[in-house]
Amino acid sequence: MPSAKILILYTGGTIGMGHEIPGDSSSPLIPQGWEFLQKAMPALSFDGFFTKEKGIEFTYKSFEHVIDSSEFAPAHWADILDILSLNYEHFDGFIIIHGTDTMAYTASALSFALQNLGKPVVITGSQLPIFHPRTDAISNLSNAIYIAAAKVFNLPMIPEVLICFNDKLLRGNRSTKSSSKDFSGFESPSFPDLGSLEQAIQIWDKYILPLPIAPFRVLPNFETNIIIITLFPGFNPEILSRLANDKQLKGVILRTFGSGNAPSSETFIRAIKLLVDNGKTVLNISQCQEGFVNMKAYKTGNNLFLCGIISGADMTLEAATAKMMWLLANEKDLNFSLLKNLKGELSLN
Ligand code: ASP
Repeated sequence: MPSAKILILYTGGTIGMGHEIPGDSSSPLIPQGWEFLQKAMPALSFDGFFTKEKGIEFTYKSFEHVIDSSEFAPAHWADILDILSLNYEHFDGFIIIHGTDTMAYTASALSFALQNLGKPVVITGSQLPIFHPRTDAISNLSNAIYIAAAKVFNLPMIPEVLICFNDKLLRGNRSTKSSSKDFSGFESPSFPDLGSLEQAIQIWDKYILPLPIAPFRVLPNFETNIIIITLFPGFNPEILSRLANDKQLKGVILRTFGSGNAPSSETFIRAIKLLVDNGKTVLNISQCQEGFVNMKAYKTGNNLFLCGIISGADMTLEAATAKMMWLLANEKDLNFSLLKNLKGELSLN
């Protein structure tokens, strides 16, 4: 009888990449098959530490075509969701091996689509490929196994989508890729980390979401007709007016200044009103990494509120994007649900 059953799904990313021209380190990195990764991590083998000493039974699955995560689209989220849904009952925890570039988007998307999640879904990857002598892949993957197989290590079971990276355990929909070069590649700027995996492992239980009561289910659809607009001094509001007439467009994420402020010129306000009047959902999030949108703080923000723009509170760009895409495909009362804290992705003020 295994002490824990863990499903590992490999989707691609630097962690399992090798050089396009073998032996030529100046050639670009491309994803390699699962065997490449497994060979480099003896702890995963049948007579390795996790199985032999701890009784953990692993099942491995891989995307048919493993990819750089820059190629990710909702169809790939749907593939992951399909695998999780088909295997949910049979495993204690899940690990998704993923490229770092869009890891926080995937973590956010899964957090909304996996309804009443009662098991850990841990996403990890690495900054250096597993074949590299200084790779971070082995510690990241080992840490992810500790979190996914929590009971084996007397750790609290966390029923959430998580990012486990460089000794940090983060809520997936609070995470953002903060560095493309440091081993510490992810941060959770507006919410405390859920754990730390240094020499000792610490989990901060008080931040963990409660176990759901309702049965697990998956809602895998996402709307892609949205756009993200970053404001800057000199932004031309005519661009927004033109977008307002785009029949396909469903939602706009406006990355505003500071606590949710924007120009108050007549042309800008008119353009925003036109977007809202034409049925586009407009969500206000801050360009500040640690930003909380408060459209009542300044007149320049209040104008937006009066136009019918929705506050994104302290959501990351990744969470706001995935939430809007998911709600547009699944929810009728969109504005109400955008404001709500659905999966710990925002703080209510
Ligand atoms: N481009 C890679 C990816 O996202 C980067 C990484 O994995 O670190 O797949």
